[in-house]
Amino acid sequence: MPDYDLIIRGGTVVTESDQFRADVGVRGGRIAALAERLDGGAAPGTSVLDATGLLVLPGGVDSHCHIEQLQQGGGADEETFTTGSTAALAGGTTSVVSFSTQFKGGGVLGPLAEYHRRAAAGAMVDYAFHQIITDPTEAVIHDELPQVVAGGVRSLKVFLTYDPLRLDDRQYLAVLSAARRLGCLVTVHCENYDAIAWRSAALLAAGRTAPKYHAWSRPPIVEREATHRAIALAELVDTPIEVFHVSCPEAAEEIARAQARGVRVWGETCPQYFVLGAADMDRPGFEGAKFMCSPAPRDAAAAAGLWQAVRARTLEVVSSDHSGWNYAGPRGKQAAGPDAPFTNIPNGVPGLAARLPLLWSEGVATGRITASDFVRLTAGQPARLFGLHAKGRIAPGADADLVLWDPERRTRLTNALMQHVIDYTPYEGMEVTGWPVATLRRGAVVMRDGVVQAEPGSGRYLAVPPYDMIRPRGVLPDGFDAAAFC
Ligand SMILES: [Zn+2]
Repeated sequence: MPDYDLIIRGGTVVTESDQFRADVGVRGGRIAALAERLDGGAAPGTSVLDATGLLVLPGGVDSHCHIEQLQQGGGADEETFTTGSTAALAGGTTSVVSFSTQFKGGGVLGPLAEYHRRAAAGAMVDYAFHQIITDPTEAVIHDELPQVVAGGVRSLKVFLTYDPLRLDDRQYLAVLSAARRLGCLVTVHCENYDAIAWRSAALLAAGRTAPKYHAWSRPPIVEREATHRAIALAELVDTPIEVFHVSCPEAAEEIARAQARGVRVWGETCPQYFVLGAADMDRPGFEGAKFMCSPAPRDAAAAAGLWQAVRARTLEVVSSDHSGWNYAGPRGKQAAGPDAPFTNIPNGVPGLAARLPLLWSEGVATGRITASDFVRLTAGQPARLFGLHAKGRIAPGADADLVLWDPERRTRLTNALMQHVIDYTPYEGMEVTGWPVATLRRGAVVMRDGVVQAEPGSGRYLAVPPYDMIRPRGVLPDGFDAAAFC
């Protein structure tokens, strides 16, 4: 038997701490060895992949993607587990954490089983789930959630805004309490529901309905306030949380202040907040709808503040928040017509394939962050934070999820290159430096020169066991653990 099934030869391996010339030996889908020179290429049964002149990075871990999400009233996102996987692999991402939703008045086990069925049939990346809670009834909290967690889901997602998803503070406390008892992380969409509803009503009354007023309906203040509240309530219960998609330095400051007092809170941001802005939503006609997501993209000063927060390690995860709505057609951005007021336009931008090239181009190629920072932000930290223990690192024993990366290649982004099912990319025409040449999933080449080759259903479910990083701190007001009694 040969020592290795595959040797990746001649590349430069990038880890969170280092960058060094090394061959990578793969056996049984896992990394078996790293050495300056691995022999055995001549052995029958060992294939060799030439990585001369390329970087070898861990496969991307995208811990926030909306894929084939079920819609209230029937149907699902047009981005399926198969098309979403194609986009992911094309962009160098090998693992995703997507979502299982709950509809108000319904349970969580039924939908979760449906997501499992769909992903098992269609996924070509490895995947885990966040469980969205929109209706924390007694039955959901006490009967269903323990089963969800036993099945390997340890991340709960809550929204502090959006009808009909949002939780009020008491409901949020109920989810935080359950998470504390069950050993889960809670991820939070932080915007103030009432403030947005109040401003939106005023904007509509003033006749300001165009896509650009989406940003006016939710200025940084509403994100800062909700971020503060989300953290304060998590601190009250002593439950670790991650704040999703931080779009502005005002919210990042709230996270930094809490981190400084030892609170277990992490922050995520997304490429759209570095490269898009509110001005994009002011493009002629209805074009601005292509750039609408929540929180809203801000401006260059906000992006500069986010880079600072990334460098300070206040924000340690960069996800895509891939949420694809077609621009044309009856179910996408124009579902309520080509003149729909901003309040009736679906929110979200697609970005699975663009995540790594945009972050490399804007971050590493410009000198804002190092290649090791890039590895930490796009793979290492999301894998650790969500308990994906075999993912996100290049080390013996880890899954051989790898990207061969050309750090110099210049590419003009087009929708075709994104390989998602959505009919546009908000990044159309942008030129980026740095590009994935090949993607390996558990040792198999599943993308080469833009051609994705994998079997639908070949992605594996990543059940998450208990892990230390999200253990509560044991710091409680008056030493009283209220979560144990509710
Ligand atoms: Zn999202």
